[in-house]
Amino acid sequence: GIPVGLDSISPNRHVEVDSVPDLLDLITEVRTTTGKPTGIKFVVGAYGWLETLCQEILDRGPASAPDFVTVDGADGGSGAAPGALMDSMGLPLRESLPMVIDILERYALRERVRVIASGKLVTPTDVAWALCVGADFAVSARGFMFALGCIQAMQCNKDSCPTGIATHNPRLQQGLDPTRKAVRVANYVRNTIHEVEVIAHSCGVHEPRELERFHGRIVASHGQSVPLDAFYPTLREIHQGRDVRPGVPHTAPPGDTN
Ligand code: SF4
Repeated sequence: GIPVGLDSISPNRHVEVDSVPDLLDLITEVRTTTGKPTGIKFVVGAYGWLETLCQEILDRGPASAPDFVTVDGADGGSGAAPGALMDSMGLPLRESLPMVIDILERYALRERVRVIASGKLVTPTDVAWALCVGADFAVSARGFMFALGCIQAMQCNKDSCPTGIATHNPRLQQGLDPTRKAVRVANYVRNTIHEVEVIAHSCGVHEPRELERFHGRIVASHGQSVPLDAFYPTLREIHQGRDVRPGVPHTAPPGDTN
């Protein structure tokens, strides 16, 4: 709907999507048109819509579900993202990832919908945490940008990127040597994967996808660490046969007094 010749600067809202049913309709349309797995990426703010989404999927049938959801942290975004949104809006991934996974579990949709973790997961430890919490895999934009030489000058939208990455300026582009930087990017990927595997093996599992919540620990408000399955207990309760449907009170995570 943007007239030819006018700037398109992250328009607020997709005109096709005004509700959860609209969203599922669009996912179905894209999947049917492309023949590809189709999913959605979001930062979680208010999360009631996720329960509405899951219920709508159950009403329509599991085939209507997105094939994946990518959960981004509130502090994500490129250097062109509005500072107020990065600083003040949405939940950080540490809160939202377990929440999304638990909601999918509660509606018996966890097997149907792959969960991708995103949002500043640039170190092997961060990736291992996401896998422990329950993500199927992690993706990163920032880690690759760092490997490429990004110094976070936050000028991606100004054509003045000093490292030559996000610019069409031929003089600045000379700062980016693709042959040398490609090696660094490849090394970053290889080493990240290797170290996630090292962490997994140290936890006693054969491969990273076998990591579970009890393998990770988090420092709680009382200063001592607690296992992730105690901090985010819903999955464990489900597996123990507890009633964790929406509206049924949960037990508070031990030591979580904040
Ligand atoms: S260094 Fe370039 S790519 Fe990195 S944030 Fe700045 S403008 Fe963007």
